[in-house]
Amino acid sequence: MITPLSEGTFTVDDSKKFIPFDPSKDHLKDRPSSLLVDIVPFLIRTNNDLIVIDPGLGMQSAGGDFMILENIQRAGYAAEDVSIVLLSHLHKDHTGGICYGNDPAFNLMFPKATYYCQQQELDYALSRKDSPSFVQAKLRFLKDTPQLRLLQGNGQINKEIAFEISGGHTPFHQVFTIMTSTATCFFGGDVLPQPKQLQIRFNAKYDYDGKAAAGKRIEYGNRAAKEDYTCLFFHSGKMPMAKVKTGGDGKFLLEKIPAEFPDS
Ligand SMILES: [Zn+2]
Repeated sequence: MITPLSEGTFTVDDSKKFIPFDPSKDHLKDRPSSLLVDIVPFLIRTNNDLIVIDPGLGMQSAGGDFMILENIQRAGYAAEDVSIVLLSHLHKDHTGGICYGNDPAFNLMFPKATYYCQQQELDYALSRKDSPSFVQAKLRFLKDTPQLRLLQGNGQINKEIAFEISGGHTPFHQVFTIMTSTATCFFGGDVLPQPKQLQIRFNAKYDYDGKAAAGKRIEYGNRAAKEDYTCLFFHSGKMPMAKVKTGGDGKFLLEKIPAEFPDS
């Protein structure tokens, strides 16, 4: 089972504030120098685990409940059922949902889960004290939780979950390959955040190393086509899940695939 857990669409500018954007009434021209991004964490059930990948901004809906938990409930599960939380990197749009509450009295959003991130990514993020891209208080809480496991380099968390450092977007950004009973999923995080990154070649200014990230996208696109991966796109509400084919001319073709719910 692979289910997107969308928190919606936002604009973001250099201030790194994510402002909800309603396409039916908001206009991008009213928000100069802003990028439009969707935020889509994922819920994946393997034979052994219920996994959340990159728990998003931690947005609350109008009723005050956390959107990620509402989405998980809609998929038939509770926060306590999540056994693993995977973190590609520690920018706030990917880690706002690791915990909730007020500094320093935070609580883990997924109280029974083991959280995984790269040791060097955490060290890097904690050193960027003045950067608006990180929420330092939540990262300090993460660092001290006994439920955190720090990863070094490439490897396997268990038989179904592999991690690999990509760099590019941040110095120690990691990607994941996850085997379910129906698919092999590839989560490229912000190195492969949208189908667009495979359809158009460009260096992005929001990457730590734009050239390295652009090279990794081609490598991952080719691997996704060869291995028949289900690619998961964290910043695409329109096409959160797709298969990739090589279309000649070094181009990639993407084919949207539907979300899987527990009963499907
Ligand atoms: Zn992001």
